[in-house]
Amino acid sequence: MYPIESNILFADRYRLIKRIGRGGFAEVWLADDTLTDLQVAIKIYDGMDEAGLKIFVGEIKKVYHLNHTNVRKPQHVAAWNNMPYLVMTYCSAGSLEKKIGQITEQEVWKILHDVASGLAYLHSNNIIHQDIKPANILQDDMGNYVIIDFGISTLARDTLLKSTKRGYTNAGTLAYMAPERFSSNYAPIFASDIWSLGAMLFELLEGVTPFPSD
Ligand code: ATP
Repeated sequence: MYPIESNILFADRYRLIKRIGRGGFAEVWLADDTLTDLQVAIKIYDGMDEAGLKIFVGEIKKVYHLNHTNVRKPQHVAAWNNMPYLVMTYCSAGSLEKKIGQITEQEVWKILHDVASGLAYLHSNNIIHQDIKPANILQDDMGNYVIIDFGISTLARDTLLKSTKRGYTNAGTLAYMAPERFSSNYAPIFASDIWSLGAMLFELLEGVTPFPSD
């Protein structure tokens, strides 16, 4: 697999600056877009075979028509050296992770309003997010909260699970999962996102999630 490290010119266009984070299947990098001179965030997924790439890109294509103040879709999706990647505007204010336990009630009301509006929009478009948590809510330049990382359906998650070489150990996310998600014949439902929103708001105010992640 092609090494992903600082300073490489990813996809012949994006100069990687620093890794912002790493999840179960992907890494997020801050990068300079050498074509536009803008800073972007690139989510680079583990390499996968052609069949996996087809499923992945097909899933992401389904969210391209979506537009809402509180939903941030990727600007661009492609694959390089068999690694699918998504390019997004970089949000320098970062995610809600850094506000956990250090937030005013007034700000929490704004977060509840913005994330609920974004979720209502996604749900009305038949999309269940399935991973609402502080790392997936960013603050944009206008001060609005935006939902990221949507559109990866159960099908694409399964593809990623099979193709990832790291193994899926994203225990942190369990803390936001609704009880029905643990059933043996789980099928995603809209209400699971609302549970996760509640768990996230609890954590923002209290500094700990309502249930331990294990
Ligand atoms: P997973 O996708 O496995 O659930 P994750 O959600 O924990 O993982 P990533 O999506 O890999 O994490 O994101 C890593 C970090 O990068 C998070 O802290 C996230 O808030 C941050 N991040 C993602 N996109 C952007 C962006 N456009 N601007 C700024 N930070 C971002």
